[in-house]
Amino acid sequence: MKHLHSGKVRDLYQTSEGLLLMVASDRLSAFDYVLEPDIPDKGAILTQMSLWWFDQLKDVVPNHVVAPGDEPRSVLCRPLKMVQVECVARGYLAGGGLNEYRTDGTVSGVRLPAGLEDGSRLPEPIFTPSTKAPMGQHDEPISYERVEAEVGADVAAELRRITLAVYTRGAEIARERGIILADTKIELGWDSEGVLTLGDEVLTPDSSRFWPADEWKPGRSQPSFDKQFVRDWLLSPESGWDKASGNPPPRLPDDVVERTRQRYLEAYERVTGSSFSG
Ligand code: ATP
Ligand code: MG
Repeated sequence: MKHLHSGKVRDLYQTSEGLLLMVASDRLSAFDYVLEPDIPDKGAILTQMSLWWFDQLKDVVPNHVVAPGDEPRSVLCRPLKMVQVECVARGYLAGGGLNEYRTDGTVSGVRLPAGLEDGSRLPEPIFTPSTKAPMGQHDEPISYERVEAEVGADVAAELRRITLAVYTRGAEIARERGIILADTKIELGWDSEGVLTLGDEVLTPDSSRFWPADEWKPGRSQPSFDKQFVRDWLLSPESGWDKASGNPPPRLPDDVVERTRQRYLEAYERVTGSSFSG
């Protein structure tokens, strides 16, 4: 198989039939760094979770899945021509959205009511696109007008419609399982017939913020099933890391690795309702 691409987390290969094999590694990235060491089983957990969600969402948007791969971490998919916009939907305020709101009162240029706090629910879910930055660079929030300028008004409207529909359906399903889907990022591309299709991974803890609903309390950082745990540890005095220094983060201690693995497992099991077998 021909090796096509290695991102921070996934490796892509082309099969002899012209399909793609997407292999999710156990690498964990945070603040645009790949951390050491790997999180055991993470690739398999995220691949299985994506497959479950693709199936749940098949009436909302067509997807790139052809079949599960030979290993639990891999999936065979149709090659898409990826849209060069990261499609983000937010139903709650956190992360980069919160930072922009605190400075400007907006998120990706969308004006929000005053008085919202860390973790607040938004009046309605919003589309907050960002650039798809080349490897090593940060994705930057962009306005809807800029998306229109880059892909045209019709495609921009479709990206927004599909992104909000995936978020809304995903949030409904998660909520039934006691989980708040705070936000999510999807990637869309055109298939060989020119149909906008959901690619990459979907509604995983790497692409989304999942919060236990019974612990939700705006005004502080929310407990979560995603890598917020690792981000919080890296920013704590315990890690000894100064993010602003430009130095790479320290190696994760064994207990942080194990607790992170447990979060990924718990997210999988709570969302899908089945235990992870690998
Ligand atoms: P990073 O996430 O490290 O910033 P990345 O997004 O390029 O970089 P990965 O997420 O590790 O890296 O790799 C997945 C890559 O495969 C992404 O570039 C994604 O856009 C691309 N991709 C996903 N699905 C498809 C598909 N069906 N056809 C073509 N490319 C795809
Ligand atoms: Mg990616």
